[in-house]
Amino acid sequence: MIIIMKSSATEDQIDHVVRRVQELGFTPHVSRGVERTIIGVVGDERSLARSSFEVLDGVERVVRVLHPFKMASREWKQEDTVIHINGVTIGGGGLTIIAGPCSVESRSQLLETAHAVKEAGAHMLRGGAYKPRTSPYSFQGLGLKGLEILAEAKETYGLPVVTEVMSPDLVTLVAEYADMLQIGARNMQNFALLHAVGKVQRPVLLKRGMMSTIQELLMSAEYILSNGNMQVAVCERGIRTFETYTRNTTDINAIPALKQLTHLPVIGDPSHGTGKWDLVRPVARAMVAAGADGLIVEVHPRPEEALSDGAQSLRPENFARLVEEVKAVWEALRNVEAVPVTTP
Ligand code: PEP
Ligand code: MN
Repeated sequence: MIIIMKSSATEDQIDHVVRRVQELGFTPHVSRGVERTIIGVVGDERSLARSSFEVLDGVERVVRVLHPFKMASREWKQEDTVIHINGVTIGGGGLTIIAGPCSVESRSQLLETAHAVKEAGAHMLRGGAYKPRTSPYSFQGLGLKGLEILAEAKETYGLPVVTEVMSPDLVTLVAEYADMLQIGARNMQNFALLHAVGKVQRPVLLKRGMMSTIQELLMSAEYILSNGNMQVAVCERGIRTFETYTRNTTDINAIPALKQLTHLPVIGDPSHGTGKWDLVRPVARAMVAAGADGLIVEVHPRPEEALSDGAQSLRPENFARLVEEVKAVWEALRNVEAVPVTTP
């Protein structure tokens, strides 16, 4: 439920509504816009009547949010959320490119990749230090050593870093090194982890589970938002279908659907979405054309030697082409007026 205050509402009237929300056992979330203040009611408000608030002084109207995700919904917040990370922005109309290896394998591998992706125009660096691998016998990541290498690359090339955190007890440590915390597809519904990243003030890149619906993705985002962390971007990284030619099936529908349903930035991952390096560039172009706010792309200087996801990793020169291509798509479409279609 959202309580929209009149533009003439006084501070006392706003405070009174906030106290009433608390008295009824809910958590108020106050957003102060230029025009008016909006108070979100956080909690299971199914039993709550709109009239509980409509009668209060200073209230203009009370709106029920129809979706089960509340704070993540466009009804809750109409304008796009923009995440600011050390001079880089995600959301709000730009195109943010995150690139780097699947895993941090060594200092020289990461520094070489960071240099190459920076030259090609990437805005942020990715690289896994803790890796969620299907097999316990596969490379599991360098752990703390990997975080230290990421910090060095960030320092050297000025690229903010995103890296995966797999368990709640590692959130504080990973947040010391990373500018953005990645929640991987396999952990999208690890609720203890979602709680933990909700409690830190670090932006989160939340990847869609490979067997999760768009609604489930947004419910997971809701966990993070409702725990107090508003800086969340959601990521379409392909889902599992009957198709086996590709590793996953990029759900291109999810990109415009998410843009309608949520104010959170939407990132596309054409690497995991396809699993094949030679499909990454065309699918990246499609994701940008569909309205993605950014991309996360796996790049390796020698994919044949990669310890994880070599088959879907681009060589630096192919990544440079990808950047040129997606920028061209973005430029071509930014001037096309997005006229809202209200009838079929
Ligand atoms: C990754 O980004 O390398 C990764 C493991 O992604 P996902 O969680 O989407 O499989
Ligand atoms: Mn990977």
